[in-house]
Amino acid sequence: MAAAEYDVIILGGGPGGYVAAIRARQLGLRTALVEREQLGGICLNWGCIPTKALLRTAEINDLLHHLDAHGFSADNVRVDFAKVVARSRAVAKRLSAGVRHLMRKNTVDVIDGHGRLLGGGRIVVEKAGTVVGESAAAHVIVATGARARGLPGIEPDGALIWTYKEALVPERLPQSLLIIGAGAIGIEFASFYRDMGSEVTVVEALPRILPAEDEEISAAARKTFEKRGIRIHTKATVQSVEKGRDDVTAVVDLGGGVLSPVTVERVILAVGITGNVEGIGLEATRAEVEQGHIVVNEWLATGEPGLYAIGDVVGPPWLAHKASHEAVVCVEHLAGVSGVRPLEPTNIPACTYCRPQVASVGLTEAAARANGREVRVGRFPYQANGKAIALGETEGLVKTVFDGSTGALLGAHLIGPDATELIHGFVIAKTLETTEAELMHCIFPHPTLSEVIGESTLDAFGRALHI
Ligand SMILES: Cc1cc2nc3c(=O)[nH]c(=O)nc-3n(C[C@H](O)[C@H](O)[C@H](O)COP(=O)(O)OP(=O)(O)OC[C@H]3O[C@@H](n4cnc5c(N)ncnc54)[C@H](O)[C@@H]3O)c2cc1C
Repeated sequence: MAAAEYDVIILGGGPGGYVAAIRARQLGLRTALVEREQLGGICLNWGCIPTKALLRTAEINDLLHHLDAHGFSADNVRVDFAKVVARSRAVAKRLSAGVRHLMRKNTVDVIDGHGRLLGGGRIVVEKAGTVVGESAAAHVIVATGARARGLPGIEPDGALIWTYKEALVPERLPQSLLIIGAGAIGIEFASFYRDMGSEVTVVEALPRILPAEDEEISAAARKTFEKRGIRIHTKATVQSVEKGRDDVTAVVDLGGGVLSPVTVERVILAVGITGNVEGIGLEATRAEVEQGHIVVNEWLATGEPGLYAIGDVVGPPWLAHKASHEAVVCVEHLAGVSGVRPLEPTNIPACTYCRPQVASVGLTEAAARANGREVRVGRFPYQANGKAIALGETEGLVKTVFDGSTGALLGAHLIGPDATELIHGFVIAKTLETTEAELMHCIFPHPTLSEVIGESTLDAFGRALHI
């Protein structure tokens, strides 16, 4: 093998790849990052960030429709949809440019093009099918991410049947939408478009929306979305779609052979994602691929010596913070940093930024019970929290799950205002292996939404103060 020019080469500049590059440089490793599109990956350009910009607009829109409750009146408030989308794109662009700055600051060599593994630590970079360079490294990290999955017969066409990409940059607000899939991505789009005024129907094959969340939280979410006029069909599948000139008629199987046609302007396909494992030369290595994802061990190493994989390409949960954390674990381990710990899956928070927000960490009540544990469950409604009442946002619930014998915090599940910010209190507690005793010693500032954390903990042990 030719002498390695780099210690580490990373394929893909998303939150997995670019974080790996920064950490590698911090550890003094000679590092190159190959990116074929935009730095920041799906997360900054087509995922986490632009959706949150849109959802902020939806939140403002909702507030504008409830000004009266706060003593305001306003006439002629109108929305310029093109500006809404332009703002979201500007936010994404700014963050992607921020990553380029970080690469310069950390003296990472950024190579523009599509990287492909040649085996033995060598990679080739191509642009528009033409080879533009070759490099070698002692360690190669694949961080090529993932893309939207299609459904047989319901392939995205970019015009009438959208993936998240088209859903982020609509030319105008569709009057009606069918969203297939009620995971975080589908539900965030349902919430955004409904708030902006579209008629929204959601079809989910599983028995409940946000199926990875605690059952009680998904039931609460369904109730509030239906109250807002979102039509939800669970245990239902889309049998077929027929495209018109500017609309789509879908036949929804509601179960038990009941077929219901629905005609909408646009369809959003949000049925999950699949890893970008093709065309990257994996066949030149001993790395294995299972169900569209690269198989790795706890240190993110593949079956090929010196080859690692991180982020969405190694499978669920498909989350940016999981990708970034894997990046740090992977780079520190390959660099021989002492005390590195593998990522603990039950400490990865999951957030859905719909209205009201949903967030969780750790085991659901059902999973904790299925483990054969004696569990204690606490609940606290936002409507008993002073700050929530002052804000005028009382819808929601926090639910905590503890080990009944040791008091260890096993999981926390929230639906309500700022749930995606509050969850980090539980993430810290859980990562530090906290028990109910320590949580009960914590003093939560009053009046804040964070008091729901303390109260829900107290409730699990029959000591809630405000219910
Ligand atoms: C609509 C939407 C909303 C989301 N919201 C959230 C959220 O709120 N919170 C959250 O945590 N997660 C969210 N996600 C998921 C999040 O975007 C991903 O988990 C995250 O981007 C994964 O990071 P990654 O680095 O593994 O891959 P990616 O971000 O996909 O980056 C991979 C990069 O690799 C590049 N690449 C691929 N192949 C090659 C190659 N051969 N050579 C060179 N470059 C290559 C790609 O161009 C891309 O830039 C959302 C996703 C979507 C679609």
